[in-house]
Amino acid sequence: MLSGTPGVGEIPVCYRKILYGDEYRSFSSTTYGKCARRLDNAYTLASENIFAEIHREIKNVYENGAEITDLSVSFDGTWLTRGHTSLIGVGCVIDMLTGYVVDFEVMSKVCRHCSVAKNKLGQSSAEFSIWYEGHKSECDINHLGSSTSMEMEAALTLWKRSTSLGFRYITVLSDGDCKTFNYLCEKKVYGPDIVIKRKNVLIMLVSG
Ligand SMILES: [Zn+2]
Repeated sequence: MLSGTPGVGEIPVCYRKILYGDEYRSFSSTTYGKCARRLDNAYTLASENIFAEIHREIKNVYENGAEITDLSVSFDGTWLTRGHTSLIGVGCVIDMLTGYVVDFEVMSKVCRHCSVAKNKLGQSSAEFSIWYEGHKSECDINHLGSSTSMEMEAALTLWKRSTSLGFRYITVLSDGDCKTFNYLCEKKVYGPDIVIKRKNVLIMLVSG
């Protein structure tokens, strides 16, 4: 993620010369923003191509020719920082048969562009409201709840879009924490007739 990448301005000058040579000249935040956006677009495109290939491979392995393939998956979430106050979390679905990451979702309570604009224009100003109208479709903030609820919301987003990828995550390998599983069941993401099943990894390990 680019948000974790230090800006060039944050790198001490002595190190900048090592990294970029004596001809190094600092560039403006606008230029840095343009470079970051280009990199972000390139990473996004590469990621989409890789996932398309992975999804084809998973379909080939299951060999059932179905438009929607039912998968057994593991799901887990991770956070940028510990202590249930993280501003960024990631949920990840892994296919149990192939071991491929099928999909992931980044949940964010922060947006660098919004923070900069708030400081510059004032959060309550008309200028900020006008700026935000043009920005909101690309805003990084997609989670307004607690940090602890990030994992459940990431799972719901992933389960909801699974059919658009050609999959249903019908069986979930669980580590015993069933909050997310219960949340998915409650939401009935695949309709009232499809029941999502849970396998407890701890029981599987004990029983061999
Ligand atoms: Zn934003």
